[in-house]
Amino acid sequence: MKIVDIRERSIPISRYLDRGIPSGGLTTSLVAVVTDVVRAGTPIIGYGFASVGRFAQGGLIRERFAPRLLKASEAALLNRDGTNFDPFRAWDVMMAGEKLGGHGERCVAVGALDMAIWDAAAKIVDVPLYQFICERQQRPPPPPRIAVYASGGYPYPHDDVARLSAEIRSFADLGFTHAKIKVGSADLGTDLRRIEAAAKQINGSNRLAVDAMNRYDAVSAEEAAAALCPLELWWFEDICDPHDFDTLASVAAHYDKPIAAGEALFSVQEARLLDRHGGLRTGKDILLFDPVHCYGLPGYLKIIDHFLAKDWPRAAFWPHGGHLFGLHLAAALGLGGAETTPAGFHPFCGVAGKIENGNAVLPEAPGVGFETHDDAWRAFRALV
Ligand code: MG
Repeated sequence: MKIVDIRERSIPISRYLDRGIPSGGLTTSLVAVVTDVVRAGTPIIGYGFASVGRFAQGGLIRERFAPRLLKASEAALLNRDGTNFDPFRAWDVMMAGEKLGGHGERCVAVGALDMAIWDAAAKIVDVPLYQFICERQQRPPPPPRIAVYASGGYPYPHDDVARLSAEIRSFADLGFTHAKIKVGSADLGTDLRRIEAAAKQINGSNRLAVDAMNRYDAVSAEEAAAALCPLELWWFEDICDPHDFDTLASVAAHYDKPIAAGEALFSVQEARLLDRHGGLRTGKDILLFDPVHCYGLPGYLKIIDHFLAKDWPRAAFWPHGGHLFGLHLAAALGLGGAETTPAGFHPFCGVAGKIENGNAVLPEAPGVGFETHDDAWRAFRALV
């Protein structure tokens, strides 16, 4: 059993449903890991992508991490019985020779390939990914429905409040009970008007999270926190620079409602710094680490283990990225829930199934289930 080919392609990705609106030139990497395991005449292929919010990692994937997987001996990639790929062993192969520190975005390249290897391994035993992870990690079976929220609410260049309202209304109509919008790129008065408009569509500001996309400095963070606190928002996310733990801790000392952080920290080493210096509060605050950006599931599990050992509840984790992989992990690992992006990041908008009362149904297709998501599947098909 071996990996016989790995393909990568970079695609543009937009924050908006209207892909004509400028979106910062974001890209992501699609990867296909082709195995020599053949079912019904076709090889089993694992699919992954580099999540959203950073950039494609084609160079690192093609020049460094894919060649290590392709050159590895069969024994180095397989489980003890030799009956399937072992994603943890494949991860060790990818990381062989990497130096400590300097996480950069190599973690994103590794995470994209890691997703594809998990997809292939679950397909080889013909079970959905969440079930494969539950068995591998000795976790109890998850409930059939997983809490999700709709993420979007980026500022529109024209008719912002009207278009934002329509977007959040569409989330509610799809069955979402909670949503998240962006703040921090306009003045506080504008943001307060956006929040009021969005909250109206989702039945209250306590069902609305706001994401400042790391824009505030020490002074503007305090001003925003003071203005937002009375609104009793669901959470206040990405307040300041991801490494500005002083500002985060200072806000956390005054802001009485939940704070969410961790989306732009990519390693357990950085997670430890956040925990030690960020002032976050166990049992109240939210941890947003993106499993793909954190070196894939093996890296993400190290972060979860760190916080569990410090008495954080599993429910504090709401993985960033809005992807099906995150939904499987939320289910298998008993996390709070998962982000979804119904109105952006085509071809990865939303999840495959219906949303009912703020919950998503887990895909029952083998692996991650990209094959059940029309747009994602079309993109992956084009890759192979
Ligand atoms: Mg964020």
